[in-house]
Amino acid sequence: MYVGHFAAGLLIIAKAPTVKPLPILMGVGLLDIVNGLAVMTGIDHVTPNLASGPYLYFDLTFIDWDHSLLMAILLSVFWGALFFRDARLALLAGVASFSHFLLDLPLHNSDLALYPHAERHLGGGLWASLGIGAWLLEGAFSALLVAGAWRLAARRRVSLAWPAAFLAVLFIQLSPWLSPTKFIASLPEPYTHLLLGLVITLGFIAPGVILTILVANAERRGRQSIAEHGIATLAESKQSVQ
Ligand SMILES: [Zn+2]
Repeated sequence: MYVGHFAAGLLIIAKAPTVKPLPILMGVGLLDIVNGLAVMTGIDHVTPNLASGPYLYFDLTFIDWDHSLLMAILLSVFWGALFFRDARLALLAGVASFSHFLLDLPLHNSDLALYPHAERHLGGGLWASLGIGAWLLEGAFSALLVAGAWRLAARRRVSLAWPAAFLAVLFIQLSPWLSPTKFIASLPEPYTHLLLGLVITLGFIAPGVILTILVANAERRGRQSIAEHGIATLAESKQSVQ
């Protein structure tokens, strides 16, 4: 899953708008940020396979040090612990990080081990079985989460139009036709795994930062709007969204 992770982050922020957005929006991608680094350094193994799914074009042959159940738990606890000064932020950052594993579960093609080097692997395999349908399903699922976040934010006069538009761009960009990983899968080694790892890591860090800026701007405009129009209009808008 790709855009769905960011959509989950938006929903968490909309439910807890007073927490800092960056630890949440980086948290939802943490497992893949680590995955990209592990692919580049050869800790993880990926194999080009054009039939693997709608937009990845790689089999995730060995990704146990970031995408096993045990490592997802440990990395999420570690990520949350970084923000120990703010207990609520620490908890939500950990939840955001672990949500990555839960959302990957139905899509991945049985490549999610229980623990590093475990025999037992998890993953519903929708990528391989549904193909383009899995990409569409991810889009519909993400739209639902964004709609939920949008509704919650609108109650505080915060418009998530720009964050939502940005997620739509991410969704189209990692489509079966525009995905950069199709080209990367055709390269010779070592460029294949080096470039794929780089694209995965940057593909979560850069959008995480951009989305954080867009959310912060939306919050600022919301506060301005309340300051200008007063509490009465806020009460009206609350009624209108209910
Ligand atoms: Zn992942």
